[in-house]
Amino acid sequence: MKKLMAANWKMYKTREDAESTANGLRSLVEKNLPSDREVLVFPPFTAIDRVAAAFDGANGFATGGQDFYLHEEGAYTGEISPSMLKDAGATWGLTGHSERRHVLGEKDELVGEKTAYGLSQGMNICLCIGEKIEERKAGRVEAVIDTQLELGLKDVPRDIAPERLAVAYEPVWAIGTGEVAGPEEIVEAHTMTRKKLEDVFGEKAKEIRILYGGSVKPDNVSGIIGLDNVDGVLVGGASLTSDSFAKIVLG
Ligand code: PEP
Repeated sequence: MKKLMAANWKMYKTREDAESTANGLRSLVEKNLPSDREVLVFPPFTAIDRVAAAFDGANGFATGGQDFYLHEEGAYTGEISPSMLKDAGATWGLTGHSERRHVLGEKDELVGEKTAYGLSQGMNICLCIGEKIEERKAGRVEAVIDTQLELGLKDVPRDIAPERLAVAYEPVWAIGTGEVAGPEEIVEAHTMTRKKLEDVFGEKAKEIRILYGGSVKPDNVSGIIGLDNVDGVLVGGASLTSDSFAKIVLG
């Protein structure tokens, strides 16, 4: 199973900046990318085409959309569809990111609908899950993971090709805070995630990638990527410059 090294650029970067970061990343990484690693970048919508063009022809590089809605077209002001993302060059979609859940108010049910819809429209999907600090303190990590996966995967066909789905475990308290989860916390949560995926998908759950996200940096990635059940990382802040993200991808 290839490790998936993913970047979430959130609401940062002009088209020009995105293109130059993507070109910089390609030139730093392409020749040295181990055959068991893949690079995935989620730019803002406006820059997807530029990033996809910068990665064109590079083995193991992909582009994704940070969000999408539940229809291909229609009177949904402000929304974007999977086919529009694909038209711009994206092959992946992101669902359930903590900022969409906790800043923009997306509920587990909507996250599940988007996950199933994106897959049905031919996108690969990275579904994000993770507990808030008060949920961790209340001993509810497993309950949160179970519920978010249960509802997040509710309508996903059980025969889905496992490489088309990834789950990013991102404890909310570790996102953008500099407070990375400890190795025991990561292994415990990823083991819970794998167990739940096995309940849902059976044997093939072993081939669904589980990424860790939350304050991953060049100097801590090597201690994270080798942990049990860690099949990649999802990186926000430290993915914004090509130097930093290249170190993470190769780290
Ligand atoms: C994220 O946005 O998914 C994320 C993990 O951010 P950061 O790496 O900045 O914590």
